[in-house]
Amino acid sequence: MRVLVVEDERKLAVTVARGLAAEGFAVDLAHDGQDGLWRATEHPYDVVVLDIMLPVINGYEVCRRMRAAGVWTPVLMLTAKDGEHDEADALDLGADDYLTKPFSFVVLVARLRALLRRGAPERPADLVVGDLVLDPAAHRVSRGGTEVRLTAREFSLLEYLMRHAGDVRSKLDILDHVWDTYYEGDPNIVEVYIGYLRRKIDEPFQRVSIETVRGAGYRVATPRRVSPDADV
Ligand code: CA
Repeated sequence: MRVLVVEDERKLAVTVARGLAAEGFAVDLAHDGQDGLWRATEHPYDVVVLDIMLPVINGYEVCRRMRAAGVWTPVLMLTAKDGEHDEADALDLGADDYLTKPFSFVVLVARLRALLRRGAPERPADLVVGDLVLDPAAHRVSRGGTEVRLTAREFSLLEYLMRHAGDVRSKLDILDHVWDTYYEGDPNIVEVYIGYLRRKIDEPFQRVSIETVRGAGYRVATPRRVSPDADV
């Protein structure tokens, strides 16, 4: 079993590496987030031990970018007890387990073995509404097999609506989930982005899949075909 340990405290990293080697693991070390991310995406590890506070790129970002690159190697995050982040953040960001420093080596090995037994987590499933397909892992959208390029915000808006396909989401729900809770700009930004999405995923394909529900919000539903010259 090959394990990558990303930890900038060299003494700790070396102690962990030696211990894991003695347990029969093949161990590689990285001492900053950039090197760790590179190794984790270039080499087929069975498991990654990832510290959070790291030079160059922090552990959360390393994990997020691994997942965005489609790397689903199980990740065990090392969190500091007095850190500003907590375990919930680690799990939200795609880690599979966490261990609070200082930790016992025996516990670390037990957790790693448990992760290895579980295997790589499953890639999140595609969201499908009619012939519209959104792949959350690869950040891709296609309609009837044709790839549609979206900006990050358009993608996140479409993902939110497709996760709630068939249900109406209000402008405020959308602002909270796609912008952020503290967004204080013009709420009409939602309409503007709905317009951008329609021009990319609906109009070129003569479909209507994003419906406006007057006074309530928006809904993604199985698309209706419309004739090219219909007024939508
Ligand atoms: Ca550290």
